[in-house]
Amino acid sequence: MTLRGFKSFASATTMNFEPGITCIVGPNGSGKSNVVDALAWVMGEQGAKSLRGGKMEDVIFAGTSGRSPLGRAEVVLTIDNTDGALPIEYAEVTISRTMFRNGGSDYQINGQNCRLLDVQELLSDSGIGREMHVIVGQGQLDSILRATPEGRRGFVEEAAGVLKHRKRKEKAIRKLESTEGNLNRLGDLITEIR
Ligand code: ATP
Repeated sequence: MTLRGFKSFASATTMNFEPGITCIVGPNGSGKSNVVDALAWVMGEQGAKSLRGGKMEDVIFAGTSGRSPLGRAEVVLTIDNTDGALPIEYAEVTISRTMFRNGGSDYQINGQNCRLLDVQELLSDSGIGREMHVIVGQGQLDSILRATPEGRRGFVEEAAGVLKHRKRKEKAIRKLESTEGNLNRLGDLITEIR
């Protein structure tokens, strides 16, 4: 993964992740979590809060006392696809995301401009996309352990992809209720007119 102008990584910084466990160690505030944020961001993360910022542009290097702010952030992730985990005919897949201060994100797959949807679709069957619960943030474990049984069920439902259907069901029930209200009102009106 190569970061350029992403959060605290002003200069191009490349990291190789070998098979097995990788540990990132460093003093507080040195940018360890920013590496994880970069991973989520390049895979299409859309929530500024999930990236620990107030707005999406906060991922762009904001400058330090010795270095001016930059105008763009870029993360390039190259995935070894020799095992064919990603549904694309390439042994190596490069996903990149670029953002400029004036907003908007550009995505590329193997150097070709594409949409966020293309990145999401490419990753969706591999189990590594965002919302796949592969990235567990600091404090998240705590909140899962301290959650009520209902809250914990919510995490499981989200992981299983049930939550969005539950939300849709609740919305549909509200719609049905309001339609039923309208029908009752109509019934009253008809009785009045008769
Ligand atoms: P801890 O061990 O305390 O969790 P960490 O090593 O995970 O720390 P991060 O949270 O990754 O550290 O990095 C925080 C640092 O990144 C802060 O110094 C912050 O100023 C810097 N930073 C975050 N966003 C930007 C940005 N857009 N531009 C410049 N620096 C940034």
